[in-house]
Amino acid sequence: MVLTRFAPSPTGLLHLGHAHAAARAFGFGPCLLRVEDIDHTRSKPEFTDAMLRDLAWLGFDWPEPVRIQSRHVADYDAVIASLTARGLTYEDYRTRSGDEDRTRPPAVKLDVARASAGLGELRYEDTGRVVTFDPASLPDPVLARRDIGTSYHVAVTHDDHLQGITDVVRGRDLSAETPVHVLLQTLMGWAVPRYHHHSLVMEPDGRKMSKRRGSMTIRSLRDDGLAPRDVLDLAEHHADMTGG
Ligand code: GLU
Repeated sequence: MVLTRFAPSPTGLLHLGHAHAAARAFGFGPCLLRVEDIDHTRSKPEFTDAMLRDLAWLGFDWPEPVRIQSRHVADYDAVIASLTARGLTYEDYRTRSGDEDRTRPPAVKLDVARASAGLGELRYEDTGRVVTFDPASLPDPVLARRDIGTSYHVAVTHDDHLQGITDVVRGRDLSAETPVHVLLQTLMGWAVPRYHHHSLVMEPDGRKMSKRRGSMTIRSLRDDGLAPRDVLDLAEHHADMTGG
């Protein structure tokens, strides 16, 4: 039994890069849709609505209910609390510039030295290759950001576990985050899924497409008269050739 997920963040309109990523995830096997909107400083409900419409227009479908992460923050708090109860976290009041600011909640970080004690090397499968790493070599990851009280690392690993995801299919830009995810899964006693990191759609200048840079949206291509198949073909055509 294989189960994957497509998990975009609703911080803007979906663009060609998402069309490519959705095709990879939904083309892999049974696929859930998850809305990763814990970052309330950037996510907007109207982008969630637009995202669902654009994905349906492209021809993808998914089982209901869609998991909307912002409605499950207590789940992510519980993960952090359990690591804290085991003495594996610490609070960090430092700002980016290194000064202390105690007027705002602290970041909560994983104490990697303690967390990795006795674990030895960890391993996972990435795009068909076995990757081995020493968790003690990781920098202390943020488990709760100061501004949002939780983090992508905690929410994504919690939900992959909760939803029984066997295969994570996502862009290569997230492959460097995977060791942190595998360490969290190991600490929480969760199964480590297989990872598959696919190619990205690049801008003509070689940079990754991004909502913030105003890349070509699926909406604008549809309004220009393209059919869903044309948009998916265009995304495939623009995906760089160095990835899977
Ligand atoms: N929400 C993340 C993003 O939009 C993807 C998370 C993942 O696939 O692990 O970049």
